Amino acid sequence: MHTHPTPQLWYRLMVSSDPTSSALPPEALRPLEAPVQEVFSSIQGEGVYVGKRQIFIRFAHCHLKCHYCDTPMTTPSGQCQVETNPGSSEFKHLENPLSIDSLLTVLNDLYQTAPHHSISFTGGEPLLYHLFLKELFPQVRRFTQTYLETSGTQPENLVSVLNHTDMIAMDIKLPSTTGEPQRLEDHRRFYQLAASRLETQVFIKLVFNATTTDEEIHTVADIVTNRKTPIILQPETCLTDNTVTLDHRRMVEIETLLTKVFQDVRVIPQTHKMLNVL
Ligand code: SF4
Repeated sequence: MHTHPTPQLWYRLMVSSDPTSSALPPEALRPLEAPVQEVFSSIQGEGVYVGKRQIFIRFAHCHLKCHYCDTPMTTPSGQCQVETNPGSSEFKHLENPLSIDSLLTVLNDLYQTAPHHSISFTGGEPLLYHLFLKELFPQVRRFTQTYLETSGTQPENLVSVLNHTDMIAMDIKLPSTTGEPQRLEDHRRFYQLAASRLETQVFIKLVFNATTTDEEIHTVADIVTNRKTPIILQPETCLTDNTVTLDHRRMVEIETLLTKVFQDVRVIPQTHKMLNVL
């Protein structure tokens, strides 16, 4: 059971600037703050943009508890760790929750110091803060692209940000690896919505292991209806020593199942762990 405060509790709501307004329509409420664990510059280690330099914003909290999660979502300490110079691994600390203005200042400082491909909004689950992102994304897109890393389980929250999202790395969560219940319908609705905006590039990330079944793999074809959507198979890595334990024959079997359906299937492990970067 989750004991974390709901994301909405972090929000500070700003009323309409019209002092004569007595009613408060939803659009007059502007979420200005969100809890962030860290902001840093690094190399993307997963998915189709592996190897690209990005600024990462890691939001606190997640509504899931995947067994393989390497960023356990504890209640944030109250402080956000912010890299002072891109790639330096030297950090200062800001009080949580962060305002949109303070986050934009941090991003601008990092972005001005070194060129980056895009800004990765990750977590945790960044879409827990979809109303915050709805305000932030258009401002970020004035200077770079927005890259959303998500569990792909909250289609109703994606609605807020889709028009300002350039790339979506969408997980499909398999019960064999997450220990979570199957979320077929949520994934299906999320994918349909994401794929409906042609300007947004969507790819799928699928963490799998030796216990992943053929039936689970077949569900991916039900969810992902566009056969050109890239499917990234990510073998689960051991949390203690970062090794891939899956037998290569099973890896190839699963890759074959997907290649029969999809045009672009790739097996890519978490490369940032090999590079020993953040
Ligand atoms: S969705 Fe991501 S952040 Fe959330 S528990 Fe799973 S792996 Fe961790």
